[in-house]
Amino acid sequence: MESTMMDIPLTVTSIMRYGTTAFAGKEVVTCTGDAPPRRRTYAALGERTARLANALRSLGVDGDQRVGTFMWNNAEHLEAYYAIPSMGAVLHTLNIRLSPDQVGYIATHAGDHAVIVDASLVPLFAKVLPLADTVKHVIVSGPADAAAVRSLAESGRAVHLYEELLDDAPASFDWPDLDERSAAAMCYTSGTTGLPKGVVYSHRSMYLHSMGACLGNAFAMSEQDRILPVVPQFHANAWGLAYAALMSGADLVMPDRYMTPAAIVGLIENEKVTVGAGVPTIWQGVLAHLRAVGGDISSLRTLVCGGSALPESVMRAYADEFGLVMTHAWGMTETSPLGSIAHEPAGVTGEAVWEYRTSQGRLFCTIEGRLGGDDGEILPSDGKTAGEIEVRGPWVTGSYYRDSAPEKFHDGWLRTGDVGTLDAAGFVRLTDRAKDVIKSGGEWISSMELENLLMAHPSVAEAAVIGVPDEKWGERPLAAVVLRQDAGPVTPDELRAFLSDRIPRWQLPERWSFIDEVPKTSVGKFKKTTLREQYAAGQLDVIKLAPAPH
Ligand code: AMP
Repeated sequence: MESTMMDIPLTVTSIMRYGTTAFAGKEVVTCTGDAPPRRRTYAALGERTARLANALRSLGVDGDQRVGTFMWNNAEHLEAYYAIPSMGAVLHTLNIRLSPDQVGYIATHAGDHAVIVDASLVPLFAKVLPLADTVKHVIVSGPADAAAVRSLAESGRAVHLYEELLDDAPASFDWPDLDERSAAAMCYTSGTTGLPKGVVYSHRSMYLHSMGACLGNAFAMSEQDRILPVVPQFHANAWGLAYAALMSGADLVMPDRYMTPAAIVGLIENEKVTVGAGVPTIWQGVLAHLRAVGGDISSLRTLVCGGSALPESVMRAYADEFGLVMTHAWGMTETSPLGSIAHEPAGVTGEAVWEYRTSQGRLFCTIEGRLGGDDGEILPSDGKTAGEIEVRGPWVTGSYYRDSAPEKFHDGWLRTGDVGTLDAAGFVRLTDRAKDVIKSGGEWISSMELENLLMAHPSVAEAAVIGVPDEKWGERPLAAVVLRQDAGPVTPDELRAFLSDRIPRWQLPERWSFIDEVPKTSVGKFKKTTLREQYAAGQLDVIKLAPAPH
């Protein structure tokens, strides 16, 4: 029996139409540093989106061509987020933190036809352009330096000014009817190893993911909210917040390039932000700033944090010092990115809440999870057995763009490369990464756990733990520690003693190295491959303690 329901496609266009009319008076605010922020209503956003679509069409974007963005989080980037998919083309957010070689490779692999570049990033993009042959048009957004723009034109590509293009374009666009399964946007994974891989989102996946983000059990977004996505729009679609905001009527407060802790606290204070979203490094920096300088963050109802494990010490500090419950979430570029979100179940109170809040959270409705074993067997989801998390769902990628990567899939499930447990209620608890685990004497040691514990030490600013070869045990952990600038001297013995009553003795590291900074990927995650290389090349000063007595 067939249903009697209408088959209306789920598209980015429908989110755009709804948000810019139902919430015409809501706004996107863009930080400008010391000057007052720029403000644009969602009604104005709708008109400018139509102008941008007309302008792109005049540059030959008329099918599913890729249009890249090389931009900060701001109102113009938001216009690109809506105009490009809604006209049937494919939004391709380029990661400004990668090397020109990598961006050039990615733009070429995706076949970008045009790229919108923030004026402040023109010098950087000038280095990309010679490596990006498919790019025919560069559109510069923001007040541009004439010489810098001329330097782009020397590449032989057509260079346009964003505002001039919009001024010359009609203010309405005949939005096409789109197949909800067609491509809307793409993002390349920044992966710590191997070449970047392209994930292509559909209109349908974006739509469903946005609804997921709005759910009460997720971000509970509504018209009451003012959302501050510090997570870049070039990284996993800023966790879908730009789409969820227009769906729910929430205002957007965009930091542009002003992402120092002081600027973020200023935005929260002045714009009465209710939800901030960013990686742990951001909220750790903000915490330090609040402690040192102060600031009013009382408008916040939560801070969403993901991308790396959020240390429990940070969550507890926000709760104890500011009465603020942070929301930990897990996901990947491949999962749009929201996979799971950590709220304690109803009725859980007191100390018991932390077990849930510090987990990676409960899988979203429609995202299924299971655990893969070493030999491809499926392990029990009993909350105890650890294995590689595999997921599938309507906003999980089933392949990569022009890259079959069979090793990333298992009978139609995505292998996440993350290792942990799953319980019957769907709570994910990561203990490590498949590519980043330490197996000592046949038993796993969680580098993440050691890092979290070390980062709870008052003298430790950052700590990264890697597995290094060991004659006796196969592998042992090495702790690379960055001390706080204001910390007094602290010895490896003291740090190990600090850990010793928290974890089994056999897991305590013998090897310690004090470093100036943990190497990071372009999106601020620990880049352990670099640490491993430095260790292998003998570039780390390592202090080796006698094994801890059993
Ligand atoms: P990306 O595709 O760059 O967003 O990276 C996805 C990866 O980041 C995941 O596979 C995890 O390894 C890691 N990750 C994301 N969120 C978390 C989290 N809450 N806790 C620990 N690791 C995370």
